[in-house]
Amino acid sequence: MCRDGGECGKDVFGEFRKLEIMKYFLAIIGGGPAGYTAAEIASKAGKDVIIFEQNALGGTCLNVGCIPTKTLLYSAKQYYNATHADKYGVKADGVSFDYAKIVQRKTKVVRKLVAGIKQKLNNEHCTVVMGAASVVSRTDEQVVIACGEEQYEAENLLICTGSTNFVPPIPGIKDNPAVWDSTMALDSKELPQSMIIVGGGVIGMEFATLYQELGVPVTVIEAMPTILPNLDQEVVAILLEKYRKAGIQILTETKVTEIQGNKVVTTNGEFEAEHILVSVGRRANMQGLEALNDLEMFRGGIVVDEFMRTNLKNVYAAGDVTGKIMLAHVASRQAEVAVGRMLKQIPLQRIAYNAIPSVVYTNPEIACVGLTEKDLNEIKEGDFAPSMSTDEPFVPYEVHKLPMTYSGRFVAENEGETGLCKVIVDKRSKAIMGVHMIGNPCSEFVAAASFAVRMGYTVGEFKQVVFPHPTVGEVLREVIAEF
Ligand code: NAD
Repeated sequence: MCRDGGECGKDVFGEFRKLEIMKYFLAIIGGGPAGYTAAEIASKAGKDVIIFEQNALGGTCLNVGCIPTKTLLYSAKQYYNATHADKYGVKADGVSFDYAKIVQRKTKVVRKLVAGIKQKLNNEHCTVVMGAASVVSRTDEQVVIACGEEQYEAENLLICTGSTNFVPPIPGIKDNPAVWDSTMALDSKELPQSMIIVGGGVIGMEFATLYQELGVPVTVIEAMPTILPNLDQEVVAILLEKYRKAGIQILTETKVTEIQGNKVVTTNGEFEAEHILVSVGRRANMQGLEALNDLEMFRGGIVVDEFMRTNLKNVYAAGDVTGKIMLAHVASRQAEVAVGRMLKQIPLQRIAYNAIPSVVYTNPEIACVGLTEKDLNEIKEGDFAPSMSTDEPFVPYEVHKLPMTYSGRFVAENEGETGLCKVIVDKRSKAIMGVHMIGNPCSEFVAAASFAVRMGYTVGEFKQVVFPHPTVGEVLREVIAEF
């Protein structure tokens, strides 16, 4: 679509003419959370912006990631709650579900949200070009981008090309119809009879939740000694216990050596299922950037500084392609910082990577922010100043934790669950450094903990914050009162 909403290449009389090439302030490749956020902000600031998207606006998050997964998970949770309603004194007999309808609703939700983004960009008069864009050339003054037959010029380029599912080099994985990635799993209109999930990370455990709640036998195969290896392990242990009791077979320290049709050969035996979901991480998407041969890269993606600048003047990058933290909310914040820098906004914005919340939508949910005990144990005394010089082993932090049942609302709404809320503070300053939780709906109040970590609140300051009663979030105050 042209900037005026008309047909590209035609003048005001409807005649095809060679229009003078318009030079944009900013060209963005990729219309996911990083790309569309940047487009909206820069357009709002009165800049001419063009954004290229080869699939659908909204990127992975909206189309084949966060939103469709959460929509399916919500249906699964409704079914789970109905079939477990008895513990709340509710009788629900003959409960069933229609998976095709569940998937249909997911598609409707995605369409609605994608349309919302289109509308927002239109309202800001941002030029949206649907197609695969590639960089043709770059100087310090301009970047030329090709998309289809057309070429476009811009002063600045923001690369937001995202990431794609990583396919590990396991024999028998490629072109195997039994093997799915998360996109295929989301698209299937039929529920698998049984499922093996390779990779017990975030994607793996969310799909394990979906299938288990809908009655599909699930086996999770994880190479590391634990599932969700980057999270607080006390929190993970609670999930692990519940999921094992619920019947999910979880194998850790297990490597897949080969896949033969529906059979997965591992270092711990052979397993069979109708489908095998492979979710072992994602990789930065670098297609279309080949002309930027001086662009500095590392194994995980494009190297950026604290303002999302690459080593090439006028080229920025944001989102999964930077290989930092592959989360939609990180991507959109990175986009804000990048555009702020381009616009030379004062004060310059930066990202507080120490205060990025993350949520795993298992049942119960896990939500955390900040440092874990494992992170802190890896820090040596010399990294902290000044030393207290005692004979005791140096422990730079203090931990307090309580079951979620310290919240009345949690007890009322989570029959049979205990949950956990753990807070880590700096031993000397008493600043809150990390919060790790399991229990529904902790995803909804982890932002309060992020705020505390971001602002460097001490326990004394946090104690002055009033929480509404009765809410599950009050558990945070309860734990902090222990310090
Ligand atoms: P991940 O890195 O979270 O997990 C991959 C897991 O696979 C790890 O535990 C790893 O040890 C394991 N693994 C790797 N190779 C293996 C092998 N050969 N056999 C068995 N296990 C193996 O990656 P993911 O789950 O694919 O997710 C990709 C990205 O998407 C992540 O950055 C994640 O944070 C993000 N994501 C976030 C959310 C959310 O915020 N709720 C949801 C989905 C995805």
